[in-house]
Amino acid sequence: MAVRVRPDLAGITGYVPGRTVPGAVKLASNESGIGPLPSVVQAMASAGELINRYPDNNASVLTAKLAAKFGVDTEQIVVGCGSVMLCQQLIQATCAQGQKVAFGWRSFEAYPLLTRTAGAEPLMVPITEQQALDLDALADAVIAEADNVGLVFLCTPNNPTGTTLSREEINGFLAKVPGDITVVLDEAYREFATDGSPDGTEFLVDDNGNPRDNVVVLRTFSKAYGLAGLRVGYAIGHPALLNAVRAVHVPFSVNSLALAAAEVSLDAEDELTERVGTVTTERARVTDELKALGLPVTESQANFVWLALGEGTAAFDAFMQEHKVIVRAFAGDGARVTISTPDDNDAFLRAIRDYAGQA
Ligand code: PMP
Repeated sequence: MAVRVRPDLAGITGYVPGRTVPGAVKLASNESGIGPLPSVVQAMASAGELINRYPDNNASVLTAKLAAKFGVDTEQIVVGCGSVMLCQQLIQATCAQGQKVAFGWRSFEAYPLLTRTAGAEPLMVPITEQQALDLDALADAVIAEADNVGLVFLCTPNNPTGTTLSREEINGFLAKVPGDITVVLDEAYREFATDGSPDGTEFLVDDNGNPRDNVVVLRTFSKAYGLAGLRVGYAIGHPALLNAVRAVHVPFSVNSLALAAAEVSLDAEDELTERVGTVTTERARVTDELKALGLPVTESQANFVWLALGEGTAAFDAFMQEHKVIVRAFAGDGARVTISTPDDNDAFLRAIRDYAGQA
């Protein structure tokens, strides 16, 4: 007799991460190209002496530090095992079986996967020709199914296209959609934005200064803070909503070493800001060269660039792999390439000059 598993999981394969190929430059996962700060390594070593004990399930120290950083109450912060797990917790906290999770497409690949595995359904709205989220179309789609939509993801800067949302777009969207639908501003790449786009935390209150109970901002230590291997992210939002997010938290899912590393990282903002500055300078250099080569690159505000290559994506991906550069290809749409150290970026630029020369 065949084992009984949920029939709706048939055909769903799990998340497929960026490839790691020995000897190749990996620009596929938007990681930091630089190793950890010495203070982080030291904090982890000290925390290592206590790993016979469970971690602090409430992440009290990190939560207090984050609350102070953002000028909010500690009940307005939840720490999670990467912001991806907070995405999952938010869906679980807001969507009943069969309800919809709305987002632009293309966006973060985990959104449809986490939606389906939670028993909810994705409501995917195409991005514009300029590769940006289409908030008018997204609002129309949400309003059309308002009773059935539990949550909306707005990813800004958007992974993988690098575009940001303006203050007017976000305010307009929040004014249009019903206030009982949770709107997640996924800002995994916020620290890299240099275009004056708004910080999502400003939407936690409305124009009259009253708290919005349906807006949540997601941030991570994986990108600008360079701690991808440790898995720490956090949500900032209204206590009522975050209590539901805490209810579905997997006990002890954020480990002690990760907590210690994230805590000391918050004391190293100057060093990290300098690292972010290197990435944004390199992003401009790479983007300029891609434009000069006549390639379809968007003005990215994240630590990656996006090439909207359409049907040419698979061939580009294969060419890059042959040239020992691993990018993230999305068949039929385009390729995302992480901005890393100047040396890694040079390796990419050498390969893409060859590609443009033969294309
Ligand atoms: N949101 C977005 C938009 C992302 O691109 C990512 C990582 N690729 C995440 C969330 C999750 O990041 P993490 O779980 O490492 O915090």
